Amino acid sequence: MHYKDPEELKAEAVKFFNNIKDKKNVLTPKERRDIPQMDMPAQDPILRGKNQNEVALGYTKEQAIVESSRCLQCKNAPCINGCPVGINIPGFLDAAAKGNFQESVDIIKESSLLPAICGRVCPQESQCMEFCTVGKLYKDPMKSVAIGRVERYVADLERDSNNIKTPQIKPATGKKIAIIGSGPAGLTVAADLRKDGHDVEIFEAFHKPGGVMIYGIPEFRLPKVIVEKEIESLKNMGVKFHMNFLVGRTRTVEKLLTKDGFDAVFIGSGAGLPKFMNIPGENLVGVFSANEYLTRSNLMKAYDKEHVDTPIYNSKKVAVLGGGNVAMDAARMALRLGAEEVNVIYRRTKNEMPARAEEIEHAEEEGIKFHFLTNPTKIIGDSDGKVSAIECLKYELGEPDDSGRRRPVEIKGSEFILEMDTVIPALGNGSNPLIKQTTQNLDTNKWGNITVDENKRTSIQGVYAGGDIVLGAATVILAMGEGRVAAKTITEDLSK
Ligand code: FAD
Ligand code: SF4
Ligand code: SF4
Repeated sequence: MHYKDPEELKAEAVKFFNNIKDKKNVLTPKERRDIPQMDMPAQDPILRGKNQNEVALGYTKEQAIVESSRCLQCKNAPCINGCPVGINIPGFLDAAAKGNFQESVDIIKESSLLPAICGRVCPQESQCMEFCTVGKLYKDPMKSVAIGRVERYVADLERDSNNIKTPQIKPATGKKIAIIGSGPAGLTVAADLRKDGHDVEIFEAFHKPGGVMIYGIPEFRLPKVIVEKEIESLKNMGVKFHMNFLVGRTRTVEKLLTKDGFDAVFIGSGAGLPKFMNIPGENLVGVFSANEYLTRSNLMKAYDKEHVDTPIYNSKKVAVLGGGNVAMDAARMALRLGAEEVNVIYRRTKNEMPARAEEIEHAEEEGIKFHFLTNPTKIIGDSDGKVSAIECLKYELGEPDDSGRRRPVEIKGSEFILEMDTVIPALGNGSNPLIKQTTQNLDTNKWGNITVDENKRTSIQGVYAGGDIVLGAATVILAMGEGRVAAKTITEDLSK
């Protein structure tokens, strides 16, 4: 559909690059905004549907320089307001445009711990890019400066050069902090607190650290080696990891504080509790929550059928229910696990889909089928208790609801049957109630999210929280931003 050959894209960039070089990097604002956005080279859609390798291949040096040169260096830099951690975007783009890539990544790292990750998975078009002047001039945020793509380029370059500096650690404070969960919130708190000179120990329920970045977001969008490198650098800083440690069962928050000698506890346990539709048939064999499906594929390596003992269901016809990023990940994973036909069933239209435009486009290119204005009413099983079909209803769009999106209204009598052997509800996640249930006086809201003040203090002294457990299912960069605030508060409180 939109797919372009990577070699053509590279050649196109070289023409603009040479032109910029001829002008010794001095371009008028008009010349800058007339440069078209550099497309991200990607694997061929047919080939990538059969492998787990990263879909986006990353910019070349020329593409990174040309894209950064599109930045108008706006004095008020509205893009920064769209970045949850306030990265100096014109600063890092200017350095990249001049080919000073190390300086560029150093500027990013003043505000962000995980640029190679955020450059890949940030929903940029609704964050920094939404505010970019270039996008405004084109009346399309998708044509803004591709900020994250340049961020990814400079971060990858630094990582591949094996030149990552271990941050300086302040003299030991003698304080010890427990961090529950090793997702982006927990890892960020750990890094910042360790830099402040505290002893930091992370307690993680799974056998591998990284949270959703490891068990949820698939390899083909975020190679695990990148997350592992970040974790390695935390270990080099002296952060201790305790794996297979379920706080609330292995130990309670209270015991960490009163018996194990921790001066503070940070809860970054995420939102890992899948939601279901509560329709008949959800307990049939062949129904997986998207969380389970992706965890078994990513963490348990179900895709590596020849080498691992943890395979997943052999699906032929798959229905994924939902229209968010998690639904796109589950659908594209099902394709890569060998399904012959993958269907996304969504109640509204493509315009209302919460998934990133790029992910929808990639899914379409790969041959995923979309059924809009459709919702399942029941899952039908065969005599062995296995999924054999789903019954769906047709919808039309009515008035906007509280979210501002037009409400889907069912068309009576429009039931129809789609044959399926696998159904994957991907309807979002809530917070796991375990820590709440095992921690007295820990306040939560009606959705079970921990309530905190603006500095991430919970209702219990010495206990802090951030990330999805506070925000509900959100984003990597927001979780990271929360972690930064929490770490600052913890250091301040401990020095009182
Ligand atoms: P998590 O990443 O969920 O980490 C929490 C960790 O705590 C987990 O490792 C969990 O095992 C551990 N834990 C939980 N309870 C306990 C306990 N009791 N004891 C010990 N450990 C515990 N965001 C984006 O920005 N871009 C994307 O493209 C994107 N895609 C996504 C795709 C999927 C499939 C999913 C599920 C989410 C996606 N998100 C995306 C959302 C993003 O990953 C989350 O917002 C982010 O990871 C939240 O970070 P966190 O640190 O709060 O929690
Ligand atoms: Fe944009 Fe995300 Fe990078 Fe911030 S971290 S500049 S929002 S891509
Ligand atoms: Fe550059 Fe866009 Fe930010 Fe302006 S708004 S400084 S053009 S990235």
